[in-house]
Amino acid sequence: MNSDSQKIGQRAEAKRTSWRRVWQFVRPYRWALLVAVLGVTLDAAVQGAFALLLQHILDDVFGRHDPFYIRVIPWAIVVLFLLRGIGNYVGTYGVNWVGRRVIMDIRDRVFRKYLSLPAHFFDSHPAANLMARMTFDIEQMALGVSRTVIVIARDFLTIVFLLGVMFYQSVQLTLIVFAIVPLVAWIIAYVNKRFRQISHRIQQSVSGVSEVVEEVVRGQKEVRIYGGQAEELERFERINNDNRRFNLKIASIQAASSSLVQFLAACALAVIIYFATRPAYIDQITPGAFMSFISAMLALIPPLKRLSDISSTVQRTLAAADSVFYVLDQPSEQDTGDKAVPETALDLRFHGVSLDYPDGTRALHEVDLEVPAGSVVALVGQSGSGKSSLVSLVPRFYDPTEGQVTINGTDLRDYRLDSLRNRMAYVGQNVVLFNDTVANNIAYGSAEKYSREAIREAARKANALAFIEALPNGFDTPIGENGARLSGGQRQRLAIARAILKDAPILILDEATSALDTRSERAIQEALHKVMKNRTTLVVAHRLSTIENADKVVVFERGRIVEEGSHQALLARGGLYAQLHALQHARNDVSPMPNKGNQAT
Ligand code: ADP
Ligand code: MG
Repeated sequence: MNSDSQKIGQRAEAKRTSWRRVWQFVRPYRWALLVAVLGVTLDAAVQGAFALLLQHILDDVFGRHDPFYIRVIPWAIVVLFLLRGIGNYVGTYGVNWVGRRVIMDIRDRVFRKYLSLPAHFFDSHPAANLMARMTFDIEQMALGVSRTVIVIARDFLTIVFLLGVMFYQSVQLTLIVFAIVPLVAWIIAYVNKRFRQISHRIQQSVSGVSEVVEEVVRGQKEVRIYGGQAEELERFERINNDNRRFNLKIASIQAASSSLVQFLAACALAVIIYFATRPAYIDQITPGAFMSFISAMLALIPPLKRLSDISSTVQRTLAAADSVFYVLDQPSEQDTGDKAVPETALDLRFHGVSLDYPDGTRALHEVDLEVPAGSVVALVGQSGSGKSSLVSLVPRFYDPTEGQVTINGTDLRDYRLDSLRNRMAYVGQNVVLFNDTVANNIAYGSAEKYSREAIREAARKANALAFIEALPNGFDTPIGENGARLSGGQRQRLAIARAILKDAPILILDEATSALDTRSERAIQEALHKVMKNRTTLVVAHRLSTIENADKVVVFERGRIVEEGSHQALLARGGLYAQLHALQHARNDVSPMPNKGNQAT
């Protein structure tokens, strides 16, 4: 019991916190919001004024034929509704103006967050989910706030003004209304809720006509071959009939509900008329005043209804807000280092590095590896052995769980992230291209820095020039979303051109040529060899022939280094590497790495 009330308390506290955070986004536009609230105030005031005016229309225009009112009332109506129109416009537009501003601001914040979140966040959150937060949830949150503000302000004020009119016309009748209306409202709410429950239950029990039809359409061959027509028809007719009956039941409940509600409202009205017409009272109120009172009372119903519904809007708004704040609360990438990576040749080392992914997979076990400045180290091993994991530590996509990675003896975490990443080029397993032109994709991130000549030269080295020039607009051809118009091999060549253009001292190639056929690969290979020269290079090779010139070959198995040495030395040793090599050569050097199944250990 105690812990329950505690939990409720915590939830209420969490709600307040969410509102406060939502308000932080609205706060800069509070003056615009105030104008909007003034607009809806005008709107609400006119509703009250019109109810008052009714009294004069009935008593003075049609009752006494008073020339002043006869002249003034038509104008008064026109002016009042002009004011109401203006108020409504200012209120609705103002609230949307604020809402749209807030949406833009929050989207900006979330987008910045997405740019700064670490890789493991994206591993555990599907892209579709992150997209939904950006589009749907933010919209829901900001418009929910606007809606809440306008409903609360306008409807609350409308109720206040209408009650004012009622009190003005008759205090006694208003008190009677106060006595009976809550009772009637409670009955109506209860009846509506019960009816909704019943029709919901019926709706659930209606097994869909479409389900049966879909089954028959999908299984039409089976139905025919096994002679299921009669059986299916019987089943369908039963469901078709059930469907009709259930839906009719729902219609009957709904109709009964609205009849009952009307009846109850009429009873309430009858009670009020009964009291208004008691002999002691009937002379105190004119027909106009009575109509004015009744019309104010009836006009109360829609705003009351909206106010009572507001809690579901608030709930949805808060749920959406929490989903947005969840993203904003994620820690960004750790960037606490303050050193700049030196301009000299860079020496890369892994000291007893282990890596656990957040899901618990241990991808690397105490790996020690040296990549001396200017040398090429090739990583080989079957898929899943940890090669990509190792190279992803260098740009600090992940940080090691144990051990450290150093450049020139300094832990990577002591360098500034931008300085570190600026000094390396990376071609990953999955080439990602942007919805832009070929040239801008090659020069991605610093398009204004490179001349067209330099871009062209990089493309030439990456063996991409021929296909680029065959495109309708050459380097200026848009390549569509994620390069949809290019083949796998063409995409890889663009990625390689990108890396060549960056001309960084550390080069990481993770199966950068896997989608190329043997001939294109040979053609780039030479260029890559030239590019690797005098650079600190880690290359994950999927065809062994591509790494015969590496200074050192490292063989991975289940996250550990099992062999290390030059190509020749490893061949001579006759171990795992020699076996992989023999297998590939038997396949004429075109197949990818063998998988575990055909590999002797
Ligand atoms: P390789 O590049 O040699 O094929 P990886 O380094 O990609 O191997 O994978 C090594 C191990 O780590 C595999 O068991 C793989 O399932 C796991 N792994 C890779 N990336 C992730 C990740 N983002 N989250 C969880 N586990 C991962
Ligand atoms: Mg890999």
